[in-house]
Amino acid sequence: MKLTSYWLDTSQPFDRGSPKPLEGHYDVTVVGGGLTGSSAALALAKKGARVALLEAQTIGSAASGRNGGMCNNGFAQNYGVMAGKYGKDAANAMYKAFDAGIDMVERLVQEERIDCSFARVGKLKLAAKPEHYDMLARSQELLAANVDPEKRMIARADLRSEVGTDRYHGGLLFPKSANMQVGRFVRGLAIAAARRGAAIHEHAPVTALRKVADGHEVETSKGRIVARQVLLASGISQVGPLGWIRRRIVPVGAFLIVTEPLSPSKIERLMPTRRNVVDTRNLVVYWRLTPDNRMLFGGRARFAVSNPESDEKSGQILKAAMVDVYPELADTRIDYCWGGMVDMTRDRLPRAGERGGIYYSMGYSGHGTHMSTLMGSIMAEVMNGRPDLNPWKDFDWPAIPGYFGRPWFLPILGAYYRMKDLVG
Ligand SMILES: Cc1cc2nc3c(=O)[nH]c(=O)nc-3n(C[C@H](O)[C@H](O)[C@H](O)COP(=O)(O)OP(=O)(O)OC[C@H]3O[C@@H](n4cnc5c(N)ncnc54)[C@H](O)[C@@H]3O)c2cc1C
Repeated sequence: MKLTSYWLDTSQPFDRGSPKPLEGHYDVTVVGGGLTGSSAALALAKKGARVALLEAQTIGSAASGRNGGMCNNGFAQNYGVMAGKYGKDAANAMYKAFDAGIDMVERLVQEERIDCSFARVGKLKLAAKPEHYDMLARSQELLAANVDPEKRMIARADLRSEVGTDRYHGGLLFPKSANMQVGRFVRGLAIAAARRGAAIHEHAPVTALRKVADGHEVETSKGRIVARQVLLASGISQVGPLGWIRRRIVPVGAFLIVTEPLSPSKIERLMPTRRNVVDTRNLVVYWRLTPDNRMLFGGRARFAVSNPESDEKSGQILKAAMVDVYPELADTRIDYCWGGMVDMTRDRLPRAGERGGIYYSMGYSGHGTHMSTLMGSIMAEVMNGRPDLNPWKDFDWPAIPGYFGRPWFLPILGAYYRMKDLVG
């Protein structure tokens, strides 16, 4: 079993790094080479801006190359709660922004000819308990009346045509959702940005940012540049001068396993419609097929950081969870196991805007494959004088009280959610 991301292991490494030294003047510096940063660099370069993208490690090596590759529409929160809190119009706009994110991924795949098996497979949300089915049905009614008429309920009796398990009590289908080989996608975006002239530097962590007369001086371990504008696309940002963000984003570990390829007859029994599948538990599990017919199974597993030892422990929990859903996979070999850190905000909604002359977009809270791609492109517009296009412009972002970058409360939160899943 490889303790590495299946997506990164099975896609060509990014090989278009700039050979030039890090010096001189740019219009924009993008800090971070995940989906947000690569998409932003591409959009800015298309506008003719001189762009430098600085990545602390390698393109897509953080969350963007380590996720489930699922572009699931809809937000994590209950629609009724969101409409009550922000008003119907605002809730609808946020909901539609996630749809627009998937459209943006699809458009970029086509325009840039990125070979990443993008497919509109749909998402199936499965009721882990009988009462969850009623909850999903109520949510479906509200969404159909207000913003998304395409969703439909699938009763327990009909579930076998979708997934080969009796573990669940029916589900809700979101037809717009999609999936892809996300390693190829993020690297493809960065290649497209480089093709359009963006200077991409890997292994170039930003260590200091200073305001100067004509913009910002950006210091890295490899050199220093000056840029008129700076975009932080730095996710959980564990390196560099980004302490302000570290008080607002909580890095939460999430883990995945990928099996050996499954036979066509197993696919037909277990995943005949090849959907993205998620369940309704607080400690959610999710799964999908890879383009080469492996089962990818993921979840939070334990509230722990991601490192090889931790990933392996989580992988064992995920294998047990997968076998609970599909007993037939008990003897199936696990070929890959890895983890990553999700950039969680307190309300699980992204944050994007400008602070002290520095732009930022992050905090996608586990719904980032498509939202980060969309926001990269939107931030290029925002930086070009269109802040009105930012769907998250009206959200304030106070620091989380008592939190200074070490999420001491996660084990307590994990125990709480585990208990909630057990009792109701
Ligand atoms: C295990 C896992 C599963 C997930 N599954 C899904 C899913 O199926 N669907 C979904 O929608 N979302 C999912 N997500 C969330 C999604 O992956 C993220 O929201 C998205 O990738 C965020 O992209 P990003 O570019 O903003 O951040 P990142 O991918 O984290 O990129 C930020 C980059 O900034 C760099 N950086 C940080 N600080 C500096 C610095 N000082 N100098 C230079 N570079 C710096 C980092 O090295 C990193 O490469 C998952 C996340 C994880 C971890």
